[in-house]
Amino acid sequence: MAILPIYKDGHQILRKKAQPVIKITKKIEKLIKDMLETMYDANGAGLAAPQIGISMQLVVIDVGQGPMVLINPVIVKGSGKSVDVEGCLSIPGLIGYVERFEQVTVEALDIKGRPYKVEGEGFLARALQHEIDHLQGILYTDKATNITKEVPVNEG
Ligand SMILES: [Zn+2]
Repeated sequence: MAILPIYKDGHQILRKKAQPVIKITKKIEKLIKDMLETMYDANGAGLAAPQIGISMQLVVIDVGQGPMVLINPVIVKGSGKSVDVEGCLSIPGLIGYVERFEQVTVEALDIKGRPYKVEGEGFLARALQHEIDHLQGILYTDKATNITKEVPVNEG
C-alpha cells in the first residue's frame, strides 16, 4: 500500500467529471487500498479518486463505522435539509457551511463489483454527498456560505 499525494484546489482534475469504472481490475483494487491508506493518513473522513489525480468514480469513506468503498456511486434519493460545517483535504485550512440533504440513499458497487445500497443520515449523508460531488467536479466551496480560515474538520 502507499500514501498518495492529494491534489489541491486549482488543479484541473478536481473540476473534471470522473469516468465510471467498467471493470474492477487488480490495479483498481490496489488503488482503493491506497486511497483508504491516504485518507486515514490525512485524518479525512472521505476521499474521492480525483483528489489523488485519478478521474474515476471511486470513493472511500470512514465516518467512524469502518471503511466504506463506493464504486460508481449514485444518489438515488435525498430528503430533508441540513446546514453544517465541512472541510476538504483538497482545500486545506478552510471550512464552510453547506446545505445538504439530511438523508440520502446511494447505490454503488462494492470492491467485488457487487451492487449495494447505503442509507445514510447526518454526517454519513454529508460525507456521501461531498464525495459524490467530487466525481462531478464540484467542490464544497461552490456551495458553501461563510467560508472561513480555520483548522479543517475531519472530512474528505
Ligand atoms: Zn473534499
